[in-house]
Amino acid sequence: MYAEVAVPVYVRQTFTYRLPEDISARAQVGCRVIVPFGKKLLTAFIVALHNHLDGEITSSDIKDVEELVDEVPIVGRDMLELTRWMSDYYYAPWGECLRTALPAGATVATEQVLTITDAGRSAIAHAQTGFGWSSSKNEVLELLAGAGAISSRELERQLSRSHATALIRQLERAGLIHVAHRVDDSRLRPKLQNAVRLLGKRNANGTDLPTADKPLSEQQQRVVELLTSTGEAVPLSELLEEAGVSASVVRTMEKRGMVEVFPSEVRRDPLAHISQEQMDLVILNEEQQRALDSIVAKLDEHEYATFLLHGVTGSGKTEIYIRAMREATLRGQSALMLVPEISLTPMFSRRLRTHFGDAVAILHSSLSEGERLDEWRRIKEGEAQVVIGTRSAVFAPLENLGIIIVDEEHETSYKQDETPRYHGRDTAIMRAVRARAVVVIGSATPSLESFHNARTGKSIYIRLEARYGNRPLADVQTVDMREVFKRHGKSQTFSDELKTAIAETHERGEQTIILLNRRGYSSFALCRSCGLAIRCPNCDVTLTYHRYNSSLLCHYCNYIRGVPRACPACDGQYIQYVGEGTEQLEAKLGELFPELSIARVDRDTTRRRGSLEHILMEFASGTIDMLVGTQMLAKGHDFHNVTLVGVISVDVGLSLPDFRAAERTFQLLTQVAGRAGRGHLPGRVIIQTYHPEHYSLVCAKDQDYDAFYQREISFRRAMHYPPFTALINICIKDKDFDRANLAAADLARELRQAARTSSIRVLGPAPAPLARLKGEHRFQILIKARSRRAARETLDLAMDRTAALGHNPRSISVEVDPISLM
Ligand code: ADP
Ligand code: ZN
Repeated sequence: MYAEVAVPVYVRQTFTYRLPEDISARAQVGCRVIVPFGKKLLTAFIVALHNHLDGEITSSDIKDVEELVDEVPIVGRDMLELTRWMSDYYYAPWGECLRTALPAGATVATEQVLTITDAGRSAIAHAQTGFGWSSSKNEVLELLAGAGAISSRELERQLSRSHATALIRQLERAGLIHVAHRVDDSRLRPKLQNAVRLLGKRNANGTDLPTADKPLSEQQQRVVELLTSTGEAVPLSELLEEAGVSASVVRTMEKRGMVEVFPSEVRRDPLAHISQEQMDLVILNEEQQRALDSIVAKLDEHEYATFLLHGVTGSGKTEIYIRAMREATLRGQSALMLVPEISLTPMFSRRLRTHFGDAVAILHSSLSEGERLDEWRRIKEGEAQVVIGTRSAVFAPLENLGIIIVDEEHETSYKQDETPRYHGRDTAIMRAVRARAVVVIGSATPSLESFHNARTGKSIYIRLEARYGNRPLADVQTVDMREVFKRHGKSQTFSDELKTAIAETHERGEQTIILLNRRGYSSFALCRSCGLAIRCPNCDVTLTYHRYNSSLLCHYCNYIRGVPRACPACDGQYIQYVGEGTEQLEAKLGELFPELSIARVDRDTTRRRGSLEHILMEFASGTIDMLVGTQMLAKGHDFHNVTLVGVISVDVGLSLPDFRAAERTFQLLTQVAGRAGRGHLPGRVIIQTYHPEHYSLVCAKDQDYDAFYQREISFRRAMHYPPFTALINICIKDKDFDRANLAAADLARELRQAARTSSIRVLGPAPAPLARLKGEHRFQILIKARSRRAARETLDLAMDRTAALGHNPRSISVEVDPISLM
């Protein structure tokens, strides 16, 4: 028997290994195996089993599978198919797609374990010296003789690294040591902790132990009472704390046969702190009910369908999602909901838990590895039928999937920015096609692609015209900062309009959100003598000044340095800090409005787990009057007392050299405007800009999606951008400039040669917009094609030829459907 396997490394093809007899009867498609790959051992996934070898491969080329990891397939057929599609579509190795689809730690680590052989022992005994015999070999042998077995990692620690690998190989070849491989899958195991259970009989009133030969001490008595009152096993640590006894008390009781201490599985539950009081379902209004009815009708047909739910912010989409998922579960189907970022909507996870109780599992990146794993296992075992999570939750191992919801489908965080560069929404749709499930993608500002799909009949369009309860949309006003500059004769952070509005809002006892999409204190540090801006040594960007820890930080590679006393170039004494970030904004607002309690929300203030949730809860409760922060604040929040949203500046985003700059800006402004006036009070939005005439701003001001779509789609059509063209962005990176340059030139030439139809255009190579990042030089090639398949065939051919020219395929990364060309 032979196994065809996908390996989680950068190569795109599958490999065939022989299955040794003891494994071959147990191996199944979807199981993991350990295989020798080059000099290493890797975890691979069996994607097919064959009785005979394919004509091209001869059995002497073939290596044996080392070990079978799973007795039961860890990947189901449907997930194999889905990852296969991903691998083709996104031009990524199948093994990497499979690894992405499983919880971290699924590709188990292996390590080499070294033991000394009899020949090795006698080599020491004879103190053999001779040609090629070195003292370091003797050292290794003596170490092994003393220690019994030792891992190669441990050995490397004791010797010099590069040296150790060579030594091990030589000693093994000489038969002096034995090398075995050990699989370390500890990360995939459930967490165990000691629990305590009462043994023996209880007397009638259940408070004493008659079997005890000696009377119980007072402490023992407390343990017995506690265990009796709960009636089941209690985790040891909990027992000790609650009974107020030390571990030795329990140990004595165990010895005397009064209790049993045993390892038991604990589930790490990320929603454990949420109470499960029952919540009433809201009564849907007519618009909502109609939307729900058409979704449910498709659910009953058990056929694939995609809906685009386009409703302004606050129109009640979330209520429809919850009801639609409920309908699926009532039909015995499972439901999956994807959200851009869970930590931004702590209240929402809470609501789901109250609706679906223990049937809800939650999957997102800020959970600990253990929590994620436990949730994944609960889903796999069928205990949870409703899953909410971020991008990778699209792979949740749900059976009998009825519905997938993709909330805020336009969000860029659905696209993974490392291999495999898949889009969560599009992968969800492909999953639904296979599972004959219904997909509902929702947004107040659908991506151009999704709206276009609805217009061309690829999805079913549902529009919610009004906010729930006919609350008016916020009143949006732009302030021309050029006028403000003229009025004051110098640049101002805050216009008078905004300052007045903040004061008035506070007087009414209402809350404000201020947005600036730039963290840090100042954007950069500039020498006033020579004009040098201090740059990152690894990247082609300036460093951002952070005042709280007086440092200069690179936002791309996290390079950090202290604040210079003098200019590193000319020794000038005057360093000026230019451009405001959220940290400075918070300070300035604090000075202007000392009576307001202000909190900042950006990546710097929310790094600690739970800190964002904490700030948002405080804001919801009204302890905080104003939030200042980055786009994290624009997303999905439902605060009823927020009546003012101020946007300090949008001009940087607008001027990015990216074909989605206008779309991004329009979405951001519409979303942030949607945070205002969600309760009974009307909302107001003030946007400060130097480009008030730009169509993104004009349409955002009117909150007119259709007008924006018309403008933007004609731009995309004219410029051959998505949705009219498939885009593939290729980035060539290398620490060495010439090598990157040459590889880019060769690849571009091969692409042009391989592109046989005129419907494929190859642009570049050109230096990437960030020409240097993390110490690597970057070049870009863009493919525009009418058909993705033709583009991929071209790419296949050209990549092979480029690799044949000796370029490292690892330095070339391919992104299909890039969301940004930056
Ligand atoms: P969206 O997701 O479209 O932004 P939400 O679903 O969050 O909108 O609804 C906005 C607000 O209106 C929320 O406070 C929500 O609880 C309320 N709401 C929506 N639909 C109903 C309904 N049918 N009954 C009562 N309240 C509703
Ligand atoms: Zn950097």
